[in-house]
Amino acid sequence: MQLHQSSWPEIEKYLASSKAIIIPIGSTEQHGPNGLLGTDALCPEIIAKHAGDEAGILVAPTFNVGQAQHHMAFPGTITLKPSTMIAAMIDWAQSLTRHGFTRLFWLNGHGGNIATINAAFAEIYHGISFDRGGHNHPPVRCHLRNWWEIDGVTGVIKGLFPVGEGSHATASEVSVTYYGYPDSQKRVTITPKIAPTGHIRDAEDYRRQFPDGRIGSDPSQASVEAGEKIVKAAVKELIAEFRKFAES
Ligand SMILES: [Zn+2]
Repeated sequence: MQLHQSSWPEIEKYLASSKAIIIPIGSTEQHGPNGLLGTDALCPEIIAKHAGDEAGILVAPTFNVGQAQHHMAFPGTITLKPSTMIAAMIDWAQSLTRHGFTRLFWLNGHGGNIATINAAFAEIYHGISFDRGGHNHPPVRCHLRNWWEIDGVTGVIKGLFPVGEGSHATASEVSVTYYGYPDSQKRVTITPKIAPTGHIRDAEDYRRQFPDGRIGSDPSQASVEAGEKIVKAAVKELIAEFRKFAES
């Protein structure tokens, strides 16, 4: 069940039985020569949509731009300042809590977002604590889960890609997007087979160190079949984790 494909009476009905919602959150940034710019937003969106369809969970529109400053030397990348992202997340959360949602499950697709998401959570809680009638409101809880850290998913990825998974433009995340959007697969020659590894500094330095955008990965291994296995493993555990959180 997706919020943007529902009518308001349907949301009102959903709220009568659940106050919990999944919000996919990611980034629009380069993902190497064969990865889609939307990878970090699409992965949580695809997984959340499957979980939503299977378990009747409401899924919010994807917060699809995040912290991608260090990818700005690659065309197509779009980034938010941390302060902008925090402000937008607060508005997102306040809109949902205004309608009665009290459990906001943010399913994240981008490691670079984690610090800012946690800062936004602190701001959201701060706003509630200092709201005039704060102590009379039902408690609002935010939960952060990185999709690749959903129970069991790491093991599935290790089994599929024992070599060349890497840390950016990984074989697993590219596979998930290929599963979601098989027509968007890119068949290009990638050299070297496994990308260099190292520390991320600023945007220009990133492109100097990692000329095609990948870090430590061989995403030529990506496939629709691998993506399907990862999504299926993630969906099962995401539903269980969401239900626990919804009842917390
Ligand atoms: Zn990514």
